[in-house]
Amino acid sequence: MNYINVILPIPLQKLFTYKITEAEATFLKPGMRVAVEFGKSKIFTALVYEVHKTAPIGYEAKEIHQILDETPIVNEIQLKHWDWIASYYMCSLGEVFRAALPSAFLLESETEIQLVTGFSKENELSDDEFLIFEALQHQSQISIFKIIEILGKKSVFPIIKELIEKNVIVVKEQIYEQYKPKLVKYIRLTDKWNSNDKLAELLNLLNRAKKQRALILSFFQLQSAKKPIKVSKLQDTSNCSIAVIKSLVDKGIFEYYYIQKDRINFNGKSSEIKELTSYQETAYSEIKDTFKTKQVTLLKGVTSSGKTEIYVKLIKELLKEGKQVLYLLPEIALTAQLIERLQYYFGEYLSVFHSKYSMNERVEVWNNVLANKQKAQLILGARSSLFLPFSNIGLIIVDEEHEPSFKQYDPAPRYHARDAAIVLAKEYNAKVLVGSATPSIETYFNAQQGKYGLVELNRRFGDVLLPEIELVDIKEKHRKKRMKGHFSDRLIEMITDALNEKEQVILFQNRRGFAPVVECETCCVSPQCPQCDVSLTFHSFRNELRCHYCGYKQAMPHNCRACGSEKLNTKGFGTEQIELELQQLFPDSNIGRMDLDTTRGKYGYQKIIGQFEAQEIDILVGTQMLSKGLDFANVSLVGILNADNMLNFPDFRSHERSYQLMVQVAGRAGRAQKRGKVAIQTFNPYHQILQQVSTNSYEEMFKEQLDERWQYHYPPFYRIIKIILRHKDFNRVEEGANWLGKSLVSIFKEHVLGPTTPGISKIRNYYIRHIIIKIPQKQSLGVTKNNIIRVKNSFQAIKEFRSIKFNIDVDNY
Ligand code: ADP
Ligand code: ZN
Ligand code: ZN
Repeated sequence: MNYINVILPIPLQKLFTYKITEAEATFLKPGMRVAVEFGKSKIFTALVYEVHKTAPIGYEAKEIHQILDETPIVNEIQLKHWDWIASYYMCSLGEVFRAALPSAFLLESETEIQLVTGFSKENELSDDEFLIFEALQHQSQISIFKIIEILGKKSVFPIIKELIEKNVIVVKEQIYEQYKPKLVKYIRLTDKWNSNDKLAELLNLLNRAKKQRALILSFFQLQSAKKPIKVSKLQDTSNCSIAVIKSLVDKGIFEYYYIQKDRINFNGKSSEIKELTSYQETAYSEIKDTFKTKQVTLLKGVTSSGKTEIYVKLIKELLKEGKQVLYLLPEIALTAQLIERLQYYFGEYLSVFHSKYSMNERVEVWNNVLANKQKAQLILGARSSLFLPFSNIGLIIVDEEHEPSFKQYDPAPRYHARDAAIVLAKEYNAKVLVGSATPSIETYFNAQQGKYGLVELNRRFGDVLLPEIELVDIKEKHRKKRMKGHFSDRLIEMITDALNEKEQVILFQNRRGFAPVVECETCCVSPQCPQCDVSLTFHSFRNELRCHYCGYKQAMPHNCRACGSEKLNTKGFGTEQIELELQQLFPDSNIGRMDLDTTRGKYGYQKIIGQFEAQEIDILVGTQMLSKGLDFANVSLVGILNADNMLNFPDFRSHERSYQLMVQVAGRAGRAQKRGKVAIQTFNPYHQILQQVSTNSYEEMFKEQLDERWQYHYPPFYRIIKIILRHKDFNRVEEGANWLGKSLVSIFKEHVLGPTTPGISKIRNYYIRHIIIKIPQKQSLGVTKNNIIRVKNSFQAIKEFRSIKFNIDVDNY
């Protein structure tokens, strides 16, 4: 008999065995998908893990439904990497499988499908396909389970697959708010005329057309700024009518084009890479040197030192050797800005992969990588692009390596993309370059220890000085009554100066702990989320209260639910509040806001960045998002409104993170010619971290933090595994956590912390308890994990505890 072991996309630890025919056994290879029945007539997509001849023990193997692929869509190296992820991060292979593949590859009977609007070639559909198409005319979405009923047969996955490929239907996914990007009309010279030495010829040609000549001259003037030229801009500067512009387009001298900044549409004009400065050149050859002996190198380069240009040169070289390159970035830093920049160099070799792309786009990229197509030689992506089916990867770049968003928290696998990338690269014998101006303590420690190579770049491009940082003592300002709302007189003065110089300003408000909440003036009660242990956040734009943890919302009440008083105060200060204050302080300036609310949807972020870039916004207020690798030439001032709330956050990394965040935000100032300024408002200007930020003393910060980590037993000296228990019944989770805590202490002694109640003790009606296990360097990680699993198994054998949700997070920081 022939069998296969398959991975099912479920959290159960083991593989499952199915029976196959002789013919299927010769056809099937690991990494191919099959449809199988599991549980009570549920159908899943499973992935073949191995083909063999051993019957399972204890159950009769079922037959598979059908084979879904002609060739493997996941390769052996990936499977091996999945094994590592499952074992290191203590989750099931099924959970890795589910995270790794775009969900269109993971049909199951529960999957809901929807029609793609605008499909009209019904006559090209087969009978079965038509039945599905027709059913979707009556219902907006149907589950595959339902389709099985409609067609009267179980083998429906291939039909659905076909319909997805024909772009008739899509798998239902999170629906993003629709924002149709505004297409902006730009103008450029046609290829024929596009060079400076053609100018004279052109002017000659237009000798008698005075207006057209004037237009050409204005155009060349604008072009010297080397930025795309909007038609409207050209019209303004030249003072010509649109008819004059059109006549030159008709003559084939100009052409219109549109920029839609979200999608990769390569226009075929790629360019030479920039010549590196001597400092960059040195860094570049040092990187190559370290790669001779190290697998991983850290490029620690101050903001705006040109790290990206160095990556570009390395990428160029690898592509020439015919290797694939993966360029990992935190989701939010995947901006049109960077995409455009890379597209400029690598046009037809570049693909982008991230979660805001539609399912079909993601499937397309997956298939291109799998086929090793030219278009997929360089992949720019967020953490999940790590799972793409590379065959020949030569280099992985992890940019902004310190960013917390490389870590996936929920659901499992709770992996760290940087660490998983390093393991993956080993499998391919590839190199890893991690880059940051403010490396994480662990990475810099590894570099100091010689585990990673270390290359530093301490000059900004063009020798622009790092910004001048001024700490503004707002305790003092409050005392002297020099505050207007949240702005000190000093900050107002600096903003005024910048605006007078026609320069732009970025103001940063940390999100953590400073959402605006409503409080009753009479009884001091704040409205709480009914499902979570948090105060609701006030959103003035929609005049409603929302929970940031579960999405609950309600209209802003007129009076206090507790005492009935009508005096409700919005306190705290979110970005919205700051925006309002700014409008009053600077009524003649354009103010923009960038936070989770204004950047929803695929294009939200792009849109604001675009406006800021085009200098339609003078002052941009925002959260964390602002710190991510943006490059604006005209920003001369960055203000941090309140540094204290991030410093005081209860987490062993809060000082490190505050340092990183402030230095990164500050790095947005003065990236072009002029030295930028940064103002940090704080109640405590003598805080060591603020001093270190203001003197740019990374080393000092590192040493101090490292001492503390050593003293209090934190990474990189100790590893941490965190266990999270959740249940709707308060007493149940309390009891479970106590039992578990005691059992763990009996094994790990003083290295167990907890059970503790986290700051937010209830989310979506689930009460939460944490237990932390610290693992000294000498203690075997494998043995530790086995012990934890053993305790977990005993825990789940206790009937009362079985319903408690039990999550494990390895390296939870
Ligand atoms: P980082 O990634 O270190 O913050 P970037 O690579 O974004 O720095 O570089 C900052 C700015 O300097 C960018 O606008 C970039 O185009 C420019 N730049 C950097 N190096 C060079 C170079 N060698 N030649 C021309 N421009 C450069
Ligand atoms: Zn809630
Ligand atoms: Zn009240």
